[in-house]
Amino acid sequence: MTDTIAQDVLQSLAEENGTPCYVYFIDVVMRQAELLREAFGRRFKISYAVKANPNSALIQRLRNTVDALDVSSTGELRRALGAGWAPDRISFTGPGKQASELIEAVGAGIGSIVIESMAEARALDGVAAQAGTKQPIMVRIAPAAVPRGFGVRMAGRPSQFGIDEEQIDEAVDKIRSLEHLDLRGLHIFSGTQCLNEQSIAENLEIFIGLFQRISNDHDLSPQKLVFGSGFGIPYYEADRSLGLRAIAGRIVPQLDRLKSQTRFGQTALVLELGRFLVGPAGVYLTRVINMKRSRGVNIGVCDGGMNHHLAACGHLGSVIHRNFQMFKVTPSVRDAETAPYDLVGPLCTSIDTLARNVAMPGLEVGDVIAIRSSGAYGLTASPIHFISHNPPKEYLVSLHDGQSRVEDISEY
Ligand SMILES: *Cc1c(COP(=O)(O)O)cnc(C)c1O
Repeated sequence: MTDTIAQDVLQSLAEENGTPCYVYFIDVVMRQAELLREAFGRRFKISYAVKANPNSALIQRLRNTVDALDVSSTGELRRALGAGWAPDRISFTGPGKQASELIEAVGAGIGSIVIESMAEARALDGVAAQAGTKQPIMVRIAPAAVPRGFGVRMAGRPSQFGIDEEQIDEAVDKIRSLEHLDLRGLHIFSGTQCLNEQSIAENLEIFIGLFQRISNDHDLSPQKLVFGSGFGIPYYEADRSLGLRAIAGRIVPQLDRLKSQTRFGQTALVLELGRFLVGPAGVYLTRVINMKRSRGVNIGVCDGGMNHHLAACGHLGSVIHRNFQMFKVTPSVRDAETAPYDLVGPLCTSIDTLARNVAMPGLEVGDVIAIRSSGAYGLTASPIHFISHNPPKEYLVSLHDGQSRVEDISEY
């Protein structure tokens, strides 16, 4: 693997700064963004979903890398504003926006609020009226179908997200009659963590069909169409990266057909995603602090586990435990024999397991392990307070002329 995640950088970082920690390679984030732009011939703008990794220093760096941010709480909105993002480049989604959050977002001059239900539309209309403004909004549609192959689904069944396709026509009419809302665009995010190119293309075709149909029937010329991408990343041993070109090959002609219509002449097409951008850019580093052999199994006890990295332990949306891709950072003594190990964290619970039966060359106390695909849904998606160990540090690595620069960007 031609790899910007350099083993020597990780090794010196672990030695000098200690473990456990998350390390984010900003160059990989930029590479992922460029891959996306390139694959679709720059037809898409990119919106980053902050919840994937809300680290302030990271989102500050993204100001020149992506076009927009999507936040899902006012906590995230404050982070984005604090990181210097202009409010008009930010959208706000989420099924449970509270009145206080709507007031804050409207007051901040947020670019758009994504409506997830009729009740929310009415509440926001009231808030905007109070503020004496007309709030730009998008409407989130929950499609009736999500193709196979999505690890996580938010539509195609009863769901708290968006307005069901079956109810959308009535909803659009009602929303447009609300005086203090300005319908600027349509939004769909119906499934994610998909590594099947044809399923993703099929899903994007569903989006295009819905955007087209709704715009025609309601005579809309949307400023924005948001495609919640669902692009997956390789997590487990057998996973491989998504082939963006195969998706583009199927989708680009349809995007061009859409854009060729007067109605969509001024429409910005937006890909909204999180994990694809930041997931591959991050590793979690943990050190083996104790080795034992129990009933024929080699067990490495590490200085961090489920408390820092819930997903790697298989407890974030997955049903069975599969090992994340990982490798030993510490160089092995020559001829070290590869053997199977279970790697566990320090918590007093048996579900704190980072890896089962993973092959590593001669593991010893003091060795540092790097867990890949940890840049998204890592630290802030984990129960860091459980059992009161110290939270992991966070470091940002940037490469300049072959030199790496490390910054401590820890927030906890
Ligand atoms: C979480 C989320 C995303 C990003 O999902 P990924 O799987 O990280 O790409 C995009 N849009 C919305 C509305 C989200 O809630």
